[in-house]
Amino acid sequence: MLTQTIRNFVSRLFSTAPSAPKGPQRLGVDQHHIDRRLVSRHAIKVCEVLQDRGYEAYIVGGAVRDLIVGLEPKDFDVATNATPEQIRSLFRRARIIGRRFKLVHVVFGREIIETSTFRADAKESEIVDAHGRILQDNDYGELKDDALRRDFTLNALYYDPTTETVIDYHNGVQDLKNRVVRIIGDANTRYREDPVRMLRAIRFAAKLDASIDPATHAPIAQLADLLQNVPESRLFDESIKLLSCGNALACLKLIHQEGLHSYLFPLLDEILVEPEQLQFIDQALARSDSRVRTGRTLSPSFLFAVLLWPMVHKKWLAYQSQGQPLAQAIAAASDDALDDQGRAMPIQKRFQADMREIWFTQARFDRINNRAIWRMLEQPRFRASVDFLQLRAAVREVDSVEAQWWMDLANADTDQRAMLISERTPPTRTGTGKRPRRRTRRPQRANAQQAPKHE
Ligand code: ATP
Ligand code: MG
Repeated sequence: MLTQTIRNFVSRLFSTAPSAPKGPQRLGVDQHHIDRRLVSRHAIKVCEVLQDRGYEAYIVGGAVRDLIVGLEPKDFDVATNATPEQIRSLFRRARIIGRRFKLVHVVFGREIIETSTFRADAKESEIVDAHGRILQDNDYGELKDDALRRDFTLNALYYDPTTETVIDYHNGVQDLKNRVVRIIGDANTRYREDPVRMLRAIRFAAKLDASIDPATHAPIAQLADLLQNVPESRLFDESIKLLSCGNALACLKLIHQEGLHSYLFPLLDEILVEPEQLQFIDQALARSDSRVRTGRTLSPSFLFAVLLWPMVHKKWLAYQSQGQPLAQAIAAASDDALDDQGRAMPIQKRFQADMREIWFTQARFDRINNRAIWRMLEQPRFRASVDFLQLRAAVREVDSVEAQWWMDLANADTDQRAMLISERTPPTRTGTGKRPRRRTRRPQRANAQQAPKHE
């Protein structure tokens, strides 16, 4: 009796165990609920042109995932069985890009529809490095092969805008609805093929407020080191995506928790444990998250300027207390923070220049005389620097009235600016530096003018 019960239990257990779906599920609007009006008309156009020529073409990846959960997609990708050359020949403004895997950018004004050919699953077509990382693969395949090559089940969904059907080979819609990030295939192998997938798992979990399936999660701690084999430029691109996923702090905390931060953001070791630093990052990222959610853009230099600021600020104060002048102290502090960051993942020079400008301007806000403000207004990063000052005011690092004055100035027209500047009294707070120099000798000059001339 007991044996029978156990046997039944075991057989029930196996009958409900997840197995690879035999064929794809085809889901209609009533199941996927994608509102076609929210789909880029250019992506629809690309699909229509390809389908009219007899090719298969679907909107795929992040856009389908985001549309199903009601988020606004960042961009739209199309997958097709046409080759890159065939795709290019069908559109007036299209160019083939990519070395590792060729794809086509179809350009419509400011929108680019990234259109790629279904990839093959054939392992023979891959060249891998000693750790199993794929270095080259250029073989084309069928839709089912393409689905198998994608990273997570919720990213392997294909939307046909003509029939409004979603094709789902790996139960991705179900996972999406249950908010589970699940890798396709064996997690260990897939992370070895491409270690960035570990970061992507975390990003999608934070972005979608999802959990990571245990088997998908398990190998991460052990394989974290593989990130050191990934080219810096790729890590940098991914780090920007992490910071602009719409849930940045949650994402950073997860990256830290999983021990992946040392290859991207080593400063998190300090930022996430020091309450003052955490408070700044928390407030600043909450603001940038809300920008992302309302579809506004974020500049990578601003994001990195925010992330490294707690360190810059701390060192800036330290250098000043050692007697360095304000400007010299901020320059030295910036060098230190960028060096620390650079040892793990260097930030591109052009972004570094912008970051320094934003930081150096923080030191100038304190001291600047009224005449020099006009030149400051011409600086390309003036607006960003003023936005940055607001973030500092929000954590009481600077006076909020002063920060608002600069914001008013940034928003004003020329006449209003002249008025604001003429009414400005020189800053007297000590805040981050020494007392500003006493303003002008005008009273003396006035006295001198009134003084009787010597005969
Ligand atoms: P988002 O654009 O919101 O950052 P996304 O999912 O669209 O997210 P992309 O980097 O634009 O991410 O990639 C598009 C699609 O390509 C993904 O949805 C996924 O199907 C596939 N993909 C991207 N990177 C990988 C990878 N490293 N391994 C396997 N598939 C990937
Ligand atoms: Mg995308």
